[in-house]
Amino acid sequence: MKIAIARELAVNERRVALIPDVVARLVKQGLEICVEAGAGEKAFFSDALYEEAGAKVIADSGQLWGEADVLLKVSPPEPDEIGKLREGGILIGFLNPLGDPALIQKLSDRRVTALSMEMVPRTSRAQSMDALSSQANIAGYKAVLIASANLPKYFPMLTTAAGTIRPAKVLILGAGVAGLQAIATARRLGAIVEAFDIRPEVKEQVQSLGAKFVDVTLEEDTVAEGGYAKEISEQAKQRTREVLTEHVAASDVVITTAQVPGKKAPVLVTADMVAQMKPGSVIVDLASDQGGNCEGSEAGKNVQKNGVTIMGPINLPASMPVHASEVYAKNLSALLKLMVTKEGELDLNFEDDIIEGACVTHGGEIRSERVKQALGVAVGQ
Ligand code: NAD
Repeated sequence: MKIAIARELAVNERRVALIPDVVARLVKQGLEICVEAGAGEKAFFSDALYEEAGAKVIADSGQLWGEADVLLKVSPPEPDEIGKLREGGILIGFLNPLGDPALIQKLSDRRVTALSMEMVPRTSRAQSMDALSSQANIAGYKAVLIASANLPKYFPMLTTAAGTIRPAKVLILGAGVAGLQAIATARRLGAIVEAFDIRPEVKEQVQSLGAKFVDVTLEEDTVAEGGYAKEISEQAKQRTREVLTEHVAASDVVITTAQVPGKKAPVLVTADMVAQMKPGSVIVDLASDQGGNCEGSEAGKNVQKNGVTIMGPINLPASMPVHASEVYAKNLSALLKLMVTKEGELDLNFEDDIIEGACVTHGGEIRSERVKQALGVAVGQ
């Protein structure tokens, strides 16, 4: 069975699907691995390292894509790359099926079996394959670093000969994987940290990381199937904003990470709330490309509002490509283990809930109801 690692073409995508260490392990298990020339370059993994690990470097992209039984990617393929995929072949990567269902339709038309890393169930058994978590962790960490680099202040309390510096106040909105890592990172840098999430069960996790939980009493169910947040009512959003206003105003840094799968990100910080922040404060909106948690944030840009810097970074994991690729490669290799027999033969078992959940197209059909629904909406527009 031939497994291929594609070179990423998306702008600013510096990650690579498999790193040489992981390749070496897969080769030992009897798998044949090919890598597109230069695929690991932006993550500092040279073609020579892949060769040493036992992979074959292929310069001709058409040949690599066309001969692969399983093609591994990070970002979704460009539309004109889909034609290079072998009919009946397998594609695995972040395919953004709910955000871009039209791409999934194209993969289905090409009769590709597509597995989307976003659709791997968030269960205990699937933890080692949970690429959303491995990458969100990096986003949360990096969000704090870019906030601190742009804040005209120290994060920690400092007692110096020139006097005492008060620590920065950081507010984290949304305490999922990215938010919890942001809390931990801001605490390590010495900031005073508060956090808020509509899922009440995260309160203890927030506190265990040394942050204060901002309590907002909401009289509705906020947790959906699978432990994700539900989209809350407009009334509940209003109530949340009322409570958060004074916390936002008192913060030097606000990092927003709130998302509801398949929906536009909720607005948690309004323009009025930004106007009440001290000049020099920094907001990092990790949901800027999902509609934004902060009014006025722009995906991929830094915006200034009354002296407040609102940052809307896109794809932060790609800015740390060495470890982002390493953990992603481990997620992929754990998933591959489920799909390959001891003899190295492909065995796609749809009775396995992880395969069933992740597989969005097979045999010319879209398998996921959620993707079909998203496609219906997109077509209806
Ligand atoms: P996410 O990226 O979808 O959302 C980030 C956070 O935003 C979530 O904590 C969510 O509750 C919060 N949020 C949504 N709307 C909000 C609002 N209006 N105000 C404030 N906060 C809001 O979430 P995620 O980080 O991918 O993880 C979400 C869920 O997945 C959690 O239940 C987590 O425990 C679960 N999970 C399970 C596993 C596993 O078991 N393998 C692994 C990772 C995550």
